[in-house]
Amino acid sequence: MVLDAAIADTSDEDDIEDFSDGEAEAVPETQPLHGDAVPATRVEPEGGGVSSSTPAHYLSLNLAAMYSSNAKDGPSSYPLSGEMELEIGLKFPNRETAMLAVKNYNIRRSAEYKVVESDQSRYVCRCKQFGDQCRWMVRVAKTRSSRFWKFRKYEGPHSCLASLMSQDHAQLDSNVICQHIFPMVHADATICVKVLQGSVESAYGYKVSYKKVWHAKQKAIARIYGDWDESYDQLRRYLNALQAFLPGTIVDLQTRPYYVGNTLDRDSVMFHQVFWSFPSCVETFRHCIPLVSVDRTHLYGKYAGTLLMGIAQDGNNNILPVAFALVERENTDSWYFFLTNLRRHVATRPGVLLISDRHAAIKAALEREGCGWEHNVYCVRHIASNFATSFKSKEAKRHLVNAAYSKTQEQS
Ligand SMILES: [Zn+2]
Repeated sequence: MVLDAAIADTSDEDDIEDFSDGEAEAVPETQPLHGDAVPATRVEPEGGGVSSSTPAHYLSLNLAAMYSSNAKDGPSSYPLSGEMELEIGLKFPNRETAMLAVKNYNIRRSAEYKVVESDQSRYVCRCKQFGDQCRWMVRVAKTRSSRFWKFRKYEGPHSCLASLMSQDHAQLDSNVICQHIFPMVHADATICVKVLQGSVESAYGYKVSYKKVWHAKQKAIARIYGDWDESYDQLRRYLNALQAFLPGTIVDLQTRPYYVGNTLDRDSVMFHQVFWSFPSCVETFRHCIPLVSVDRTHLYGKYAGTLLMGIAQDGNNNILPVAFALVERENTDSWYFFLTNLRRHVATRPGVLLISDRHAAIKAALEREGCGWEHNVYCVRHIASNFATSFKSKEAKRHLVNAAYSKTQEQS
């Protein structure tokens, strides 16, 4: 049996003012009366170190929760969207969720509050204009014996309007927005920020800046896919897995030494560039026309970078990407890296033709010793488009394209 701590909290004494008493939240009355509860245990992997195969959440299992005899000991089913009135006794799994409930509650009511106390075990907010006019306040705390953040004191509802209706709401921050847009981003990560901005506006009645929504979307993306640095960390394991499960996958991952200040960190390396191709691409290319077009596109995101690609064509002029590389930027070195790997592993047939847009870096890479491409030609579409920027004549452009496609005397 667990005593309800809320009884102690409804007392009249105003414990906002006495939060200096650091032990106040560790109230003994929420302690289980039976002494047989198993304490929360940190599970150490064998051998001491964290094994790469042990998921992180296994390391902080709350075994006490598994043995809990009180089936009702779960978080409240209060919807975080903020429509419902708050009340004493609400329980949340963590501090962030409890704060989100308070934020949403106030944003929905166009009321503003400030945080007057916030630390490891408690969170106290009250109306921005706290005084005779408005007594709204909330005190959320985590007890030592409970894993929940609980509403321990509450004066509501909050009905005073923010004195100055601003375009934005102080508490409508990227965390609140992230929670609101999360399902939309989860369903479609390419959803545009303007659409999300509109959704926030219609849900909350506030126009929030593009920048704020953009940040919130980045947070949602990181929550769904892990963050940028983590992704780079997993790249080597991902490529190893590809090679293990798709035998014949070609991977050339290059790294650089990693320096902290001027000191070489021998335990870490930095991503430089990677080339890869799938066995199905290599196999299919044998049945395609003996030519491969190469091009690049710039990537967006925290670390930018450039994606280089090789495209083949089958007998029906269907196109097929056959080789890929992620490089820092487009230059002679990165093109040389891509083109040599492409020639060595994918486009291995003698006499195969390379089609490019005549970029200076590609030309320089092809001229470099050991690149391996004997035959290279230029893409007519690219030449015609460059031609058209210098000579503004549709007629002349048409002649150029026709000349490029016309047969030589020997061919006709
Ligand atoms: Zn108020």
